[in-house]
Amino acid sequence: MGSREVTEQLDWNGKKVTVAGLGVSGIPAARVLHGLGAVVTVVNDGDDERSRAQAADLEAEGITVRLGDGATLPTGTELIVTTPGWRPDKPLFAAAAEAGVEVWGDVELAWRLRGPGAAPWLAVTGTNGKTTTVRMLASILEAAGLRTAAVGNIGVSLLDAVLGDEPYDVLAVELSSYQLHWAPSVRVHSAAVLNLAPDHLDWHGSMEAYAADKGRIYEGNQVACVYNVADKATEDLVVEADVEEGCRAIGFTLGTPGPSELGVVEGILVDRAFVENRQKNAQELAEVDDVQPPAPHNIANALAAAALARAFGVDAKAVRDGLKAFRPDPHRIELVEEIEGVTYVDDSKATNTHAAEASLAAYDPIVWIAGGLAKGATFDELVQKSAKRLRGAVLIGADRALIREALARHAPEVPVVDLDRTDTGAMSEAVREAARLARPGDTVLLAPACASMDMFTNYNKRGEAFADAVRSLATTGDA
Ligand code: ADP
Repeated sequence: MGSREVTEQLDWNGKKVTVAGLGVSGIPAARVLHGLGAVVTVVNDGDDERSRAQAADLEAEGITVRLGDGATLPTGTELIVTTPGWRPDKPLFAAAAEAGVEVWGDVELAWRLRGPGAAPWLAVTGTNGKTTTVRMLASILEAAGLRTAAVGNIGVSLLDAVLGDEPYDVLAVELSSYQLHWAPSVRVHSAAVLNLAPDHLDWHGSMEAYAADKGRIYEGNQVACVYNVADKATEDLVVEADVEEGCRAIGFTLGTPGPSELGVVEGILVDRAFVENRQKNAQELAEVDDVQPPAPHNIANALAAAALARAFGVDAKAVRDGLKAFRPDPHRIELVEEIEGVTYVDDSKATNTHAAEASLAAYDPIVWIAGGLAKGATFDELVQKSAKRLRGAVLIGADRALIREALARHAPEVPVVDLDRTDTGAMSEAVREAARLARPGDTVLLAPACASMDMFTNYNKRGEAFADAVRSLATTGDA
């Protein structure tokens, strides 16, 4: 199984650390560093009621907080620990570069604070499917009897995982492109990049910069770099990575696997990478139907999770048991109800076109509910690829005209309902309209391809609004 390493212990006493940003990662980081003896100043752009309350709590503990100015570097700063969401082009980082001050994100901090003999990390990134894959991986590792947790953007925070009392054998770590950007020295046991499609380009500045940050996950891998055979960009990142001697490139594919790949043969997930004599042999891992939901992109997630687990030495039976035990998180291709032969599916988490494309590929025919904040995306490719499956479309949200225009260009025969309202009742009307368009055997799919914040607090709330509307359609016949 994985090697354990001795980590270098830093002397934090009196070290002047600036924490950039209050919030989910900033506040715990400030507390931990203060506890280690560092002299901590938190800087924050906002100065609202919430941040003032948070600041008061931290100040009471002896941590300095500067609200309303996240741009100026506090005098004497020796290190910045930033909230991963802060864009690299912020003035604070320019000032840090000028002063020769290092910048770490929350992941880098956790990595540096791991104790001696810390559990190795199996890491996952990609534009879509990270959370699902990390949860599948944790489920497989648990089935193998290993002490583990799904950490990162989900579940336990990385800092808690590395500093807590819970002894882990291995961690299943989700890493976003933002986190990877700020994690220069992280070196994991094995890592997977699931896919690479344009997203968050406003933050990274370009597709090249985004890909380079994702590719950081492979740097220094010890055992396996897992890539998606169908997405050459992920393989290119493996080729470019500087890895440990002996580290292998392992592909996953929905087709028949070649040597050093995991894939699918006649409904069976098979491993041709971690077996004796992989030119001739393959190991059966699980059946496609063991994976919930058995949509193609989700089988790909399962293969990536299996590859990481196998790289860690997990046996085939645990892969199967772990996949069988796995249940997806809410709002990810979640079956809500079947009403009069029509299936209602909530994929509110499909917040970009790449994700929506995957879920649209899983059903046929579809009444598609889409729209929201486009974040600079275009919809032509998505509509072109999905047009033949569409029974109809119901469009909601601020940027719905972009989708309407793409539908008019590439699927003019598909009936479209354009809902010109963004109030809370809009989702009920969208579901009612979708029900009107649907015929028995169809799927009404909420896969917005857009962010939710124009109409909802987040994608959870959007999914809940959809599910509520569907349920009231079921009980009253009227959403
Ligand atoms: P992430 O953590 O990367 O946002 P999730 O596992 O939460 O990913 O899934 C988000 C959405 O992305 C899902 O609701 C689904 O629409 C889509 N998705 C999941 N896995 C994949 C994949 N392998 N390829 C493309 N889209 C995917």
